[in-house]
Amino acid sequence: MAMATNAFEMAQKQFDHVADLLGLEPQVREILRWPLREYHFRIPVRMDDGTIRVFQGYRVQHNDARGPNKGGIRFHPAETVDTVRALATWMTWKCAVVDLPLGGGKGGVIVDPATLSTSEKERLVRGYVQAIWKNIGPREDVPAPDVGTTPQMMGWMMDEYSKLAGQYTPGVITGKPVGGGGSLGRTEATGFGVIYTVREAMKHLKMDSSQCLAAIQGFGNVAQYAAIGFVEMLKGKVVCVSYWDRDDRCSYTVSKADGIDPHFLMSITDQYGSIDKAKAKAAGYAIEDGDAWIAKDVDVLIPAALEGQINAETVNHISSRVRIIAEGANGPTTPEADELIKQRGIFMIPDFLCNAGGVTVSYFESVQNDMNFYWSKEEVLQRLDEKMSVAFAAVLEMAEHEKVYMRDAAYMVAINRVVKAMQLRGWI
Ligand code: GLU
Repeated sequence: MAMATNAFEMAQKQFDHVADLLGLEPQVREILRWPLREYHFRIPVRMDDGTIRVFQGYRVQHNDARGPNKGGIRFHPAETVDTVRALATWMTWKCAVVDLPLGGGKGGVIVDPATLSTSEKERLVRGYVQAIWKNIGPREDVPAPDVGTTPQMMGWMMDEYSKLAGQYTPGVITGKPVGGGGSLGRTEATGFGVIYTVREAMKHLKMDSSQCLAAIQGFGNVAQYAAIGFVEMLKGKVVCVSYWDRDDRCSYTVSKADGIDPHFLMSITDQYGSIDKAKAKAAGYAIEDGDAWIAKDVDVLIPAALEGQINAETVNHISSRVRIIAEGANGPTTPEADELIKQRGIFMIPDFLCNAGGVTVSYFESVQNDMNFYWSKEEVLQRLDEKMSVAFAAVLEMAEHEKVYMRDAAYMVAINRVVKAMQLRGWI
């Protein structure tokens, strides 16, 4: 996790800036600058060889004024309580900006899931639920997948919670596998949501998407479906993606000047997002340095990996052709880099708006769980498109009306909604 800044300091800095713009009162800032609750716990797990390994776990609940806390659980070797705090805070703004009746939460475990066997992973996720089950629930806090966690893991977590609670409780977690309480369209949701916002930005900027090129950082769930969406919905070309190579312990950019085929690349990518570079080379792809994606001569940059990737060092490599940055990842741009992007007049689709498609379909999943009635994929994606387009329009309107940067406008829309809920509940 290459990080120029502490992610939580970055989240607080962004908040403070907009709190000043909005003239928020000190006591309101005191509530919103910090998570309301956090849980730190150790998870002992029996390994396949009989030994016990103890993992550090976290669940942070930032603010539940608008509804149950909501947000993924990340399994990453470089996880820290501050990254989880930042991500939980961004979830509050994310749910508010797309107007979901949910708050913000996030979980994390310090682990590289690629080092565990399937049964070790199952015991770890069940252990996570055993540690936290009294503090989560469909009306308290609803976890979901994120970096390093999968729908299968969500299925095990739901099962463990249901056993402990003594009743089938599908709404305790979202991102479950289809057929096990999951929603159609959840897998595609975040990446497709990114593309719906890019489409809206292009309409606003009067760009012809079929003539546009994109460079994507990452090739996990978000990047994969953003690539498919850019090629199939917008009819544009994606000239590269990047990925973390576990064997070489570094990242690479995988490029093709006349456009990558996302389905082919997915067919040679393992479950942790590592691309088989020999097969990619044999199919005519170039394997470049991990930072090469950011310097590509393209119209759209889509950082869809981890936080802190567009920073004071890398920002200067952005080509003068770039008109849109669509933040598929959470927190990919540091405040220093953001300032330069703003000065250059690049149109920013900020993370908690751009990547809100995942949590939006998570919300649809919990609604379907409550009704015990499931929608078709077309219905899910059409509702997703509508939510994303309405949210984009609200943020754009705020940006134009207040003459502010898109990130600040997204914060203004989100903070106003959370403050209103706190007022209505009598917290402030
Ligand atoms: N982890 C995803 C995010 O950062 C999805 C959260 C959810 O579905 O609750 O938005």
